[in-house]
Amino acid sequence: MLHFDNRLVRELPGDADTRNQPRQVLGALWSPVMPTPVVAPRLIAWSRDLAHEMEIEERDLTSPAWIAALAGNALLPGMTAYATCYGGHQFGSWARQLGDGRAIFLGEAINSAGQRFEMQLKGAGPTPYSRRADGRAVLRSSIREFLCSEAMHHLGVPTTRALSLVSTGETVVRDMFYDGHPVAEPGAVVCRVAPSFIRFGHFELPASRTDRPLLSQVVNFTIARDFPHLAALPMTPDERLARWFGEVCERTARLIVHWMRVGFVHGVMNTDNMSILGLTIDYGPYGWVDDFDPAWTPNTTDADGRRYCFGRQPAIARWNLEQLAGALSFIAADPDELAQALARYDEVLTAEFSQAFAAKFGFAAWRPDDAALVEDAFTLLHEGEVDMTWFFRRLAWTDLQAPDLAILKDAFYSEKSFDEHAADFAAWLSRWVGRVLTDNEPVGVRVARMNAVNPRYVLRNYLAQQAIDRAERGDPEMIGELLEVLRHPYDEQAGREAFAAKRPEWARHKAGCSMLSCSS
Ligand code: AMP
Ligand code: MG
Repeated sequence: MLHFDNRLVRELPGDADTRNQPRQVLGALWSPVMPTPVVAPRLIAWSRDLAHEMEIEERDLTSPAWIAALAGNALLPGMTAYATCYGGHQFGSWARQLGDGRAIFLGEAINSAGQRFEMQLKGAGPTPYSRRADGRAVLRSSIREFLCSEAMHHLGVPTTRALSLVSTGETVVRDMFYDGHPVAEPGAVVCRVAPSFIRFGHFELPASRTDRPLLSQVVNFTIARDFPHLAALPMTPDERLARWFGEVCERTARLIVHWMRVGFVHGVMNTDNMSILGLTIDYGPYGWVDDFDPAWTPNTTDADGRRYCFGRQPAIARWNLEQLAGALSFIAADPDELAQALARYDEVLTAEFSQAFAAKFGFAAWRPDDAALVEDAFTLLHEGEVDMTWFFRRLAWTDLQAPDLAILKDAFYSEKSFDEHAADFAAWLSRWVGRVLTDNEPVGVRVARMNAVNPRYVLRNYLAQQAIDRAERGDPEMIGELLEVLRHPYDEQAGREAFAAKRPEWARHKAGCSMLSCSS
C-alpha cells in the first residue's frame, strides 16, 4: 500500500481562496483544486517499470479505484489535490504568473525505501492558473509525453516519468497550428511522476513580486526536501544558497549534454519548463534530430526566431540559469556568489561534453585536439544530410584495418548526397581511424563504449505519430510496442529493426512528424 507524505502542502503556504477560478495568487505557493471528472476513463497504457519502482502492484494499478484516480475522477486514501503557482520567462520575456494550468497534483507517494514520488495529472481540468484555457490535454500530446518520458529514462537522461495514460472519452477542441481551424480531438490524462516538480519559475514569481518571505520559504523547502545532503551541511544560509544554486547549475549542465548526446530538442525551454533537479520536464513540441542540423526546431511557434533550436540549447539553459540567479539574488547577502556559482555551469558543461563526445566517437579519453575532428564531423553530418543516430552506430562498425565508407552510406538521407560528400567523408574517416588507433585498445572495448552512449532506438517523431494515428483510430497497441522497444535503446533488438528506421520520406514535412506547435 502506497504511503503519502504530502510535504509541499504541509510546509508551504497555501491559497486561502478555494474557488476554482482564474486569478492572481499572492503569498501562496499552491491552491487546493480538485480534478474535473471525465465521462469514460480507459487506461490505455502504463509503465510497468515505474509502477514497480513505486511499489504499486499491477492488479492495483489496473483496478477501477486506481483508474478513477489516474483519470481525476476520485482520490485514493492519502492523496491530496492541488496546483502550484509559478511564473516564467517565455521566449525571452517575463510572462508573470503562469502556474499549473493543466496539471493537478495528487500528493507525494513514498515507497518502502523512502523514495519520494510527486504525482500529478496533466490534463485533469481547469485550475486557478488556467487563465483562459481549458486545463485539458489531447490524446496525441499525451501519448507523446507518456512515451518520451519513459524513453528518456531508459536512455539514461534525467527526466520526469509517466505512470499512466488514460483516455477520457471526451473531446478537447484545439487549433493545432493557430490558423483558425479548431478541431475536436480525443482527450487524455497522463499521470506524471518526479521526485520534485519545482521549476525555476517557482522562484522567479515571488522574486518578481518582491515577496522575500515566500521566496525564502520556497528556497528552504526545496533544499530541505529535494537537496537533503545540502541541508545537513554546516553553513550559513547564504553559503547554502550559493552552494545549492551551483548544484542546480551542475545538474542543468549534465541534462543539456545528455540532450545533445542523444539528439533531443526540447522545443520550449522557457524558465517555467526548467526543473530545479535538472530533469527533462514538460514534453510539448519536442523532437528528435533525424538529419543532423543544429538549427532544427520541431516547434513551429519558434520557427522564425529558432530560439530553442537544437544547437542553442546549451546557451539557452545558461540564460535560464541567469534568470534564476537574478531571482535568488533578491535574498542573497552577496549576489556575486551566485554569479560565481554560475561558472559551474560552464565548467561542468565543458567537462561533460568532452566526456560524452569522446565516448560517442569512441575515444578512450578526450584530448584537446579532438575538438577539430569532432567539429568537422558535425559540419559534414549537416552538409551531407546524415542521420545522427545512424551515423554513430555505423561508425562503431567501421573496421579500423579496412575502413569502408559503404558502412556509413545507410546513414545518409539520399544517395545523391552520399555521392556528393563521399570524398569529404572518406578523408574525415581516415583521420578518425588514425585517432582511434592511437588509443591502442581492443576493438570490443571501443565498440561497447560507443554503443553505450549512441542509441540504436530513439522515439523518432514519425514513430510517435504512427502510434498516435493508430490510437486515434481506436488501436493503442503501438504505444505498448514502442514502450517495450524503447526500454532497451542501446541494444540491437532482433526483429525490431523497423523501429530504428530513418525518417521515411512521407514524414519529412508532415504535421506531427517534423512540425508541432506549443498547443501540442
Ligand atoms: P507550456 O507551454 O505547456 O509549458 O504551458 C505554459 C503555461 O500555459 C503553463 O502555465 C500551463 O499550465 C498553461 N497551459 C498550457 N496549456 C493549457 C491548457 N490547455 N489549459 C490551461 N493551462 C494551460
Ligand atoms: Mg510548462
